Amino acid sequence: MERGNLNQVVGRLLGPAEPEVGCDVCFEELDRYVELELAGKDANAAIPGLRAHLDGCPACREEHESLRALVAGE
Ligand SMILES: [Zn+2]
Repeated sequence: MERGNLNQVVGRLLGPAEPEVGCDVCFEELDRYVELELAGKDANAAIPGLRAHLDGCPACREEHESLRALVAGE
């Protein structure tokens, strides 16, 4: 039996469709995400999973909003 493969399959069945983005990744990518957004690019396609994280994480959503206002105001 290939236990490793089985775990991968189970993980795929249970896991989210998009790659899971945590707060650490979110903070790392947020600058780039906001720049893409403000440039009218598809930030969601460039950084998959970040939008979903922002929807589910009030702290990062607040950070996103203030960063967006900051960058837009420059
Ligand atoms: Zn977060």
